Amino acid sequence: MQAIKSILYYLNPIARLGNKNYSLFFPTFTTIAIAIAIELYANILLKSPSAVGLPAIFFAVALVIYFSFRDGIKGGTIVAFIVVIYYLYLISELHYKGAQLTSGVDTTIALGSIYFFLAGVIGWLRQTIDGFIEREADERKRLQIILQQLPVGILITDSEGRITQGNKQAEIILGIKIPIGFKVGSRNLVPSIHNGKPFNPNHTPLLQVLQTTKPVVKKEFLLQRSDGKTVDLEVSAAPIQNKAGKTIAAALIFSDITRQKEIEARKDDFVNMASHELKTPLTSMKLYIDVLHERIKPFQDGKTIHILSKVKNQTQNLQDLVNDLLDVSRLQTGKLSFKKERIRLDTLISDTLEQLKGASGKQKIIFEKKRPLYIDGDAFRIYQVITNLIGNAIKYSGGKGDIIVTLTLNQHRAVVGVQDYGIGIDKSHQKKIFDRLYQVTDTEEKTFPGFGMGLYISKEIIKKHKGKIWVESEKGKGSIFYFTLPLSK
Ligand code: ADP
Repeated sequence: MQAIKSILYYLNPIARLGNKNYSLFFPTFTTIAIAIAIELYANILLKSPSAVGLPAIFFAVALVIYFSFRDGIKGGTIVAFIVVIYYLYLISELHYKGAQLTSGVDTTIALGSIYFFLAGVIGWLRQTIDGFIEREADERKRLQIILQQLPVGILITDSEGRITQGNKQAEIILGIKIPIGFKVGSRNLVPSIHNGKPFNPNHTPLLQVLQTTKPVVKKEFLLQRSDGKTVDLEVSAAPIQNKAGKTIAAALIFSDITRQKEIEARKDDFVNMASHELKTPLTSMKLYIDVLHERIKPFQDGKTIHILSKVKNQTQNLQDLVNDLLDVSRLQTGKLSFKKERIRLDTLISDTLEQLKGASGKQKIIFEKKRPLYIDGDAFRIYQVITNLIGNAIKYSGGKGDIIVTLTLNQHRAVVGVQDYGIGIDKSHQKKIFDRLYQVTDTEEKTFPGFGMGLYISKEIIKKHKGKIWVESEKGKGSIFYFTLPLSK
């Protein structure tokens, strides 16, 4: 069976496409053998030497086409060359003379030219196709090597979600041999946890990508491997589309971020501990400063009182910073608790603005479109968000223009807006400013003190209240920060 297959492969020029082992021996041998066969057929079987004419032309055309397609230009040319020699031999063997000889030589030249032309064109076609195939194969090999050497795990599926490839790193991270042909979605390759819950394999990023064609970016999973190890994974997935835009495959790219997570957790622990340790002495300091303030009042020593109020302000700033640090670390560890009470939002905003009056200097904070709206939530945390947005509006407008706060209603949601006419925020930063510790570091923004925690805390607080927060802004013209909260039922 194998032998038959090998012979068929050897003879079939189409099966050999991409195989550049062109033979010279095979076309030479076959052509000479067929020429001898024709000679024997005409001389011995038919006993008429002139009967070779037609078979000699027929076989020559077939051999040139076949061998130029099987063995390229060289294969076709060698056949054409042998055929021409054979024709010349026939002319001499048949003892042509005069007009017969001239016509025989002319025919040989004409046919020979056609054979060489055919050998050239078909042989060139064959060699070009082989070149393309080879280049494609090289490209694929190069991609394979890159894929295997990448420091991230990669799984590739076909359009149905069946795994077609995986690299070495994928096996190392997952701790299993990649099951080629496995259909994703039926079960998890390795049991894992996502957002604190066992992960439903039906929602695997690979399936999501195949169904929606939208890439999935940096989702985190906790793998529970069969060897008992747990591994933090960061996973992204992307569809692979053909020129017509049809999804033909999907790729999953993942890396082991366990170590990174450990360092982050240690850092959070440290910040949490340090802020706790700072909180108590700061509270006592503030109390002592107040006592000192009261005791010094009767002496009417203006300079000392001024210095003391500066100390008090700075202590307050330090305390705000420590509180922010504590909130961030509690948010990270999921330990920030929220009360749920019925709040009249317009009153809460008015009260907050009343408290902030002193901080805005000459700038007026105007509360517009007031209306009585009730929400359910934690009044202190909402107060914190409003204070932060107004604090930023004051800070980043440098005294320019008023600050306008609005409260409106949109589809059963309260919408709070805080508008300033300050430095504004470029589009490229508008989403990122809500990330933890993100600050715009352009020259202008660098002059303002801050740590990039306020908006992150605000976003998390609003998220916990099932609301949304975003900014609309134009660089140089000012910003409006909005947040929404569902109304109380
Ligand atoms: P911080 O103000 O302490 O740096 P935030 O989280 O409150 O931190 O804000 C993050 C960043 O967003 C700021 O560093 C600033 O660049 C930008 N930003 C926030 N509010 C405004 C605003 N009203 N106008 C212009 N830029 C702002």
